[in-house]
Amino acid sequence: MGHYCRICRGERPNEQFSGQGHRIHVCKSCQRLPKSERRAIEDRDDIFGFLHQSHISKKNVAHLEQLVKSDKPRVASLAAIVLAVARVTPYKHRRLKILARNHRELLRKLVETGLVFAHTGDWVPPEAWLQEASRKN
Ligand SMILES: [Zn+2]
Repeated sequence: MGHYCRICRGERPNEQFSGQGHRIHVCKSCQRLPKSERRAIEDRDDIFGFLHQSHISKKNVAHLEQLVKSDKPRVASLAAIVLAVARVTPYKHRRLKILARNHRELLRKLVETGLVFAHTGDWVPPEAWLQEASRKN
């Protein structure tokens, strides 16, 4: 039985984990990554996680406001998108319908970045997806 590494997102053999690595779910090779790189992966996971939640809280929004200032462009741009989503529709329920109806540009960004899969949890080709979302109105 292996152990899950949350940075490279996979099962790694047990010997790839030291005592501390086990606890924090980071394998030895990922522990060797520069801190800023590991941080960027964790930040990205947080951002995807917010969309997965049923509600993006005020505390989450404060966190996103910090992430928007990240020196990693990818983190900053993902955070900006999710922050914009949180402001118009903090609750997951009906979020996609609301975006499809009133904020198509934002919905398009969610689809393009793959963030939408944190929301839906399943894969649909982006084009089909946009059509589907507007039909469900
Ligand atoms: Zn790893």
